[in-house]
Amino acid sequence: MTTRANSAVDMEATATANAFDADLIVIGAGIHGAAVAREAAARGWSVMVLEQHEQPARETSSRSSKLIHGGLRYLENADIALVHECLREQAILLRTAPHLVKSQRFFIPMVPHMKRPRWQLQIGLWLYWLLGGRRPGQSDSNAHIIDGLNNELISQCLVYRDAQTDDAALTRTVLASAEMMGARVHYSTSPAHIELHQHHVELRLQGAQTQTLRARAIANLSGIWINDVLAKVSPEQPAAKIDLVKGTHIVLPDAPIQGCYYLEAEDQRAVFVMPWRGMRLIGTTEIPCPVNTRQPEPSEPEIDYLLRTHNRYFKTTAKRSDVKDSWAGLRVLPQGEGEAFSRPRESIYLLNRQRQPRLISLLGGKLTSHRATAVSICQHLQAVMPKALWQADTRYQALPLLSC
Ligand SMILES: Cc1cc2nc3c(=O)[nH]c(=O)nc-3n(C[C@H](O)[C@H](O)[C@H](O)COP(=O)(O)OP(=O)(O)OC[C@H]3O[C@@H](n4cnc5c(N)ncnc54)[C@H](O)[C@@H]3O)c2cc1C
Repeated sequence: MTTRANSAVDMEATATANAFDADLIVIGAGIHGAAVAREAAARGWSVMVLEQHEQPARETSSRSSKLIHGGLRYLENADIALVHECLREQAILLRTAPHLVKSQRFFIPMVPHMKRPRWQLQIGLWLYWLLGGRRPGQSDSNAHIIDGLNNELISQCLVYRDAQTDDAALTRTVLASAEMMGARVHYSTSPAHIELHQHHVELRLQGAQTQTLRARAIANLSGIWINDVLAKVSPEQPAAKIDLVKGTHIVLPDAPIQGCYYLEAEDQRAVFVMPWRGMRLIGTTEIPCPVNTRQPEPSEPEIDYLLRTHNRYFKTTAKRSDVKDSWAGLRVLPQGEGEAFSRPRESIYLLNRQRQPRLISLLGGKLTSHRATAVSICQHLQAVMPKALWQADTRYQALPLLSC
């Protein structure tokens, strides 16, 4: 049963045959909450998802660059395991969700004085090919004259393939798949207090009515709210050491392009220009933000930076008044020194205890690897879950085609 915009969880409907309201309670209906609900339901566990908003994917999972990619640039940090995992997950998504995840040509325009010279990029592409089991494209002698590229500056483009999606639609679909296997999703609902016991957890809901849910374990998949949820737990849990980094995207209208462009910006970061609903989606930036930021907004310097990067590579000069839309999302990164651009992007799991954990919290992660992250979370919780009959193997299960 799905309760939309309903803050009171129907205890009768949610009661399972045993003493628990659910085996697993998931907090958050972004891509990770949806994926864990799906993976847990596939393993035959009963799952309940609590989401504070009235719909899924209202936060970071609708504000990403919408790429299902291995992350070519992570090779610079020798993040081989992450790239390999992401390319494997990309292949699974291309097979199980062809209506949502599309293979796409990517062009890397070669300009003078690049930080990453051509030979280095070519080695990177070969490694990418090896890790993903695919052949990279060759440099394309005509690519620099398509899509109005500035061919006075650009001599050639390297070509490879990655994939694109609609992040919010992917999240809704993964969640729908979980619901089809019995997961229950409750919107406008969040925990007021969580109590961890030796053999179960109790979660008191926020709101006028005092309702308490019992489960075997809780997955805290609340994205940037990770510490707000942890602060509600007793016995007290240490706060996760995180940094928040804002990423802005802008949309330029009526300028369809034939693939995605991987551009080196003035500060040598990678910026993408991508086809998006007949328009151009350009992003992203990486601006450190205070950890209590909740509603990030694109700033004028970020918009100017993205326009400057676009205008350097394309003949058409886009102006501020051409920007049709813009938005910003927040990324959770492990606290650390140095540029956000070169910080690790893998999923980090925080457990209330190593053996028989009752609470797991996720820090970081990627849209691309959501299924692999969900598998890891379920493996961490396996020891406290019932032995149940698997309903599906998510590596092979097709994602449903939703009507909207
Ligand atoms: C600018 C940017 C670009 C990116 N681009 C890419 C990309 O191209 N490819 C890629 O693979 N990854 C990308 N990522 C990473 C990816 O988008 C994120 O890792 C992913 O979307 C995070 O999903 P999540 O479910 O953890 O968090 P969220 O999507 O933020 O979901 C958390 C959910 O928890 C809910 N919640 C919070 N607190 C409570 C509570 N107390 N009770 C109930 N519900 C609660 C929130 O409302 C929200 O719905 C990008 C990230 C950013 C910021």
